[in-house]
Formats: sequence, C-alpha cells, structure tokens
Amino acid sequence: MNKPSKPVVGGGAKKVLYALKTATRIGLDNTAKALTAKNACKACALGMGGQKGGMTNEAGEFPSVCNKSIQAQSTDIQPGIPPEVIDHRLSELRELDGHELEHLGRLAFPIHKAAGSDRYVPVDWDVALDLAAQRFAVTKPERSFFYSSGRSSNEAGFVLQLLARLYGTNNVNNCSYYCHQATGVGLNSTIGTGTATVEMEDLDRCDFILVIGANPSSNHPRFIHKLKGVRDRGGEVVIINPAKEPGLVRFALPKSVKSMVSGGDFIASDYLQPRIGSDLAVLKGLIKAVLDSRAEDTRFIADHTEGFEALRADIAATNWAEIEARTGLAQADIERVAGLYARAKSAVIAWGMGITHHLNGVDNVEYIANLCLVRGQIGRQGAGLLPLRGHSNVQGIGTIGVKPVLAAEVMARMEATLGVTLPREKGLDTMRGMEAAHRGEIDAALIMGGNLYEANPNSAFAEAAFARIGFKLFLTTTLNRGHIHGHDDSEALILPVTARDEEWQPTTQESMFNFVRLSDGGICRLKSVRPETEILCELARRLLPNSPVDFEAFKQHRTIREAIARIVPGLEDLADIDIAKREFHIRGRILHAPEFKTASGRGRFIVRNLPPAKEELLLTTVRSEGQFNSIIYERTDSYRGMDRMDVMMNAEDMAGLGLSEGDAVVVESEHGAMEGARVRVFDLARGSVMAYYPEANVLTGTAVDPRSRTPSFKATPVQVRKNA
Ligand code: SF4
Repeated sequence: MNKPSKPVVGGGAKKVLYALKTATRIGLDNTAKALTAKNACKACALGMGGQKGGMTNEAGEFPSVCNKSIQAQSTDIQPGIPPEVIDHRLSELRELDGHELEHLGRLAFPIHKAAGSDRYVPVDWDVALDLAAQRFAVTKPERSFFYSSGRSSNEAGFVLQLLARLYGTNNVNNCSYYCHQATGVGLNSTIGTGTATVEMEDLDRCDFILVIGANPSSNHPRFIHKLKGVRDRGGEVVIINPAKEPGLVRFALPKSVKSMVSGGDFIASDYLQPRIGSDLAVLKGLIKAVLDSRAEDTRFIADHTEGFEALRADIAATNWAEIEARTGLAQADIERVAGLYARAKSAVIAWGMGITHHLNGVDNVEYIANLCLVRGQIGRQGAGLLPLRGHSNVQGIGTIGVKPVLAAEVMARMEATLGVTLPREKGLDTMRGMEAAHRGEIDAALIMGGNLYEANPNSAFAEAAFARIGFKLFLTTTLNRGHIHGHDDSEALILPVTARDEEWQPTTQESMFNFVRLSDGGICRLKSVRPETEILCELARRLLPNSPVDFEAFKQHRTIREAIARIVPGLEDLADIDIAKREFHIRGRILHAPEFKTASGRGRFIVRNLPPAKEELLLTTVRSEGQFNSIIYERTDSYRGMDRMDVMMNAEDMAGLGLSEGDAVVVESEHGAMEGARVRVFDLARGSVMAYYPEANVLTGTAVDPRSRTPSFKATPVQVRKNA
C-alpha cells in the first residue's frame, strides 16, 4: 500500500478529549445517564445499547468511547430554546448556520408561522393539532407527502404510513431514497433480500474485510474495532476509496492504551484509490483477476448460482486497458488485492454511499454481489455482505412500511389485520415528491425528523420546492435550516418531540445487522414535548374520525407492535418484546446457509455495462468527523484537518490548474457555484474533488439512478478556479 507521507491517525487522544469536552459541556451526570440507559444508540445503524444497556453491542462488548454517540446525545440534553429567540424574524434567524441552529437548544413548545408572516409564534398543543388536521383535511391526498427520517421508532413510522394511506395517499417515503436505496434494489435482484447477510459476530469470524466507498472511522466508529480485530487475527483489511482517509490508514483505539501510546494501529493492509465514479470498473477488474487466476469457487457457482457464463463473457470482454484507464489503477494493484481476497477463507464485503450515490448505484451493488458469489463468500458463518447503513433506525423505518410501494404480502396483511382498504396508486419516492413540490403540485407535507431541505441535492431547487409547499408540518427535537429556509409565503407548523430516551413508552429500532432493539425511554428533560406516536394518533383522530382503525388504541406502543408483528414477515417476535425483553434478529435475513430468496433459490449473477466515461474533474461530497448526516456538531474535521468550506484536491491536479494550498476558489457545476471555498491538498485520486455535504449541495444535481431513485451526490462534473 502507499504509505502516507506524514503520519495520519484517526481516533486516539483527540477523540477521548473531544468526548470529554462534550460530556463536560452537557454535564457528566447527564452524559452518564444518557449513555448507560437501556436505549439504542441514537446515531449510526451499527447498533449499540438497547436492553444490554449503554453502548453495549449484541455480543455484549462494552464499552469504548464513541464520539458519534456522545455527539448525538449532546444536542438532546440541551435546555429548551428561550421564547425570545423564537421571537426573531426568519430573516434574522437565517443568519445562523446549521451548527448554530442546532445549538440554540431543544424546541420546547409548538410554533407556527402563518403564510405571509416572517416569524414563528408559540401555539398550544390543541390549537396546533387542530390546525394541522384542518390543513390536511382541505388538501387532496394526492397533493400531499409524508416523510420520515431514520431517527424515528418503528412504532412512529408504522403509524405515520398508516395515517397517510388511510388519508388516501401512498406518497410515503424515507431518507433511504437519498442514501442506501440502491443497496436494497441491487441485493434484491442478486440474492433476493435487501439487507446485510451477516450478523455482528460474523465480523469476529472472518479473516478478510473489504470496505468500499465508506469512511467508518468517522461514520461508524466502532466498526473500526472489528477491522482492527481482523488484523490482530492475522487477516486482511482492504480499503477502496478515492480518498486516503486518515482514520482508515491508522487508528488509535481510545480504549487501548497500547494503541494510543504507539500512535495507533494500522487498519488497512492494502488501500486502492480509484478515480471517483469508477467503482463498476474496479469491481469488474477484481472479478477479472479472480477469474484469470482460476480462483472462482466452481462448486459454489454450480450448486448455488445462475447466470455465471454471462458474467464470465462480460468480464472477458472488459479489457485491462479500459479498466486501468477508467479507474486510474494499475492492473498489478487490482490483481494484488484480488489475490488477498481469493486467499481469504471467510470474507465480508462492506460498503457505504460511495457505492450507492451514483447514477449507476444499483449496478455497483450488483457487482459487489457478483464478486461475493464468484468466490462463494456468502451463505455461511463469517462471510457475506454488509451495507453500512446510516441512521440508527433507517432500516427499521423501511421494514415497517414507510415507503411508497408496499410489498404485496405486507399490503394484503395490513388490510386483513386492520380491516381497511389501502390506496393502490404508486406513491411518490423522495425525489419525485420534491419534483412535484417544485412544480407546485404539493399542498401539504408531514416531515418527521431529519432535515429533508438540506438533504436534497441542488440547494436552489430544494429551496424553491420547499417554498412552494403550501403547508409544512415538522416533527423535530431541534431546529435546523429546513425550518428557517424555503418558506417564503407558505405556512409552517413545528411540533417538538421526545428524543428516543425520553419516549413515554418503550420503542424499537433495527440495526444494519437486522437486530431489533428495545429502548426503554422514560427520561424526562422537557415537560411540553410529546412522543411522535402521540402526535400522529391525535392528528389521525382529528383527520380521520370515521376510520376503522382505533388510533386512540394505537397510542399504546404494544398495540402498534402487535399489529406490526401480524403484518410484517420476520417481525413476529416484536409482539411481546416489551414483556420478554428479548431482542432478536429479523427472521430470514442472516444468510448462514446458501439459501437465496430469489425465484430459483439461487444467487443470480447480473451483467451490466460500464457507464459512459467522464473526463472532467468529478466532485464527491463527504461527511466530516463532527457531523452526522446533515447535523454539524463541529465546524472543523479533526481527522482530515479541514474546515467545512475547504475543497480537497490532488496536488498534481491543483498544480495543473495553477492553484496553491489555501487559495480562495470558486467551484462550479452546471447546477450552481460554491463561493467562499479554499482549496487544500489531500491524498486523493487524480481527477477528483472532495467537499463537504451539505455545503457543496449547491453543486449537485437532481438526476437519479433510474432503478433506486437515488441522486448522484458523488460524481458531479465541476470546474475549480481561483477566486479573482
Ligand atoms: S458505532 Fe454507531 S451505534 Fe455504535 S456507539 Fe458509535 S454511533 Fe452508536
């Protein structure tokens, strides 16, 4: 691997100091209480906590410092925003950036902005709920949409989608359309199931992990411990990423004094830096090298797969010259990594949004599955596929039906169980919903959690789309830019909700390992905030007074879980989880036998063409250390040593453009221009530009992968020029 020119280490003392600083700011008692209570971690989908308590995982491993978890707690533990702050005009609040808004405090009471007004005013709960119900009542259901982030519980998500469907629309969607939807589509087409095939313990059984297009040192911190574990067992960890991420090269594990004193452990045994957007060519190259060395698992292919000869022909027709030209990688480097993979007894392939955030994101995922199937690295313990999902319950929200098209079986069971008839029209996915809003075809939207405004590509488009939605109902814990921007003359109502550990009743969440946790809730920090289920059921009672569903009964989470257990296959154990306190893996998802849920029962090799080659500089947008999705906890990225308006480039590309370290630059795409940026040298593949999301969303476009409907946040052609 290329050794970094100077030592770059993730984790370590700065991580411990940061955690301590945050904990001190929010109070050590508060922090300890929040981190040790029996609730699922609020941050990433790796999944910690639940009934094992604190940051313990399902294998009982505890604890280590995890910045992400502490950051997520830090904003929830804040006191309420003083009413005099709310009293400012929107034009004044717009002077605050996302970090400042998040740190104003918790929203502690409902607030309403009338159409034409430039100010939110407090309203009481009954007025707010009546108003929300009245606005949806006068809206045609097909001119509305309902959205949930991955923060909400399974219980709230289920009520949200049921409310929307009984109201009359399938315009129900969630944040995965802007992250891992390509994974679900790609895995379903190849192995017949859309989520991870491994459980967490498989990471302790494997001797090889390949991580493609992800930066877990910042986004899934405790996954790094698993990578380190592979190295300790003598196994290999290969990273494929256009950027040489410091925390993936070397990481000082905060709970290991030895690791910290020695300056950190090497995580990657090999590191490939392909050009942005060349993932499919890289994957074809890896498969080609496996086949050229006759390392395919012929027995597995014959017994458990179909379509191999078509894949073999596709790979034979892809020559090394093209692979090298597309990827910027040498054949020998790809062959070396393929050799490590081919020698592994048990391999796990993990990936993030570097794979899915492309116009061919599904193709990329299908070729990850091809690479896995060709070596028979699936269908047994210690081997398989692991999409690194983002928010702590993003997978669960999809599982229980917050999506525009329900599986036929789920829809039939929902109708039979609840005695209802649901609409049949195909609902709008997230981007179609935003495009409809942009055309002025959405009159009312219910947005539960998240920051849909800033999660959108093409900020100017998002601002206009939001402003044209006549009435927006937000459910949130804190304020973000989506509550302040994109309103113009439209009306908005923001209702404050309980955080996960403040829920009045237990809730459930699903990790990226398909493990369902029970969170106790029960902490009271703010008196006037309400659980999302309480709000949604009250809205449903007002909006649908003659509904056959008793929404008053659905205020009891156990009633909701009993309904989900009858309706969603695999979730049967949800019915008594609060009594049995037995957390569980969703049935039929972990593949420890090669029994695929495709029509034939075999894994399917899929053949796709390389996308058109792009010669321009390509921009990828990334998250920083100190950031979770669109929430900015810290303005600087301590791992990369960058500020949020820094734009990172390869030194030779910069020299070719006459740019020097720290130059003020303008970055332009066909969608917009990013001003106020400075260019910085970073260890990046040639032809690549890296900038922070969401600041760089002014540059990204709304085009989507046709099969997953996921925008291309990671391969936007740009020009970079010195700011005169
Ligand atoms: S790795 Fe993810 S789930 Fe685990 S403690 Fe950190 S943020 Fe929470």
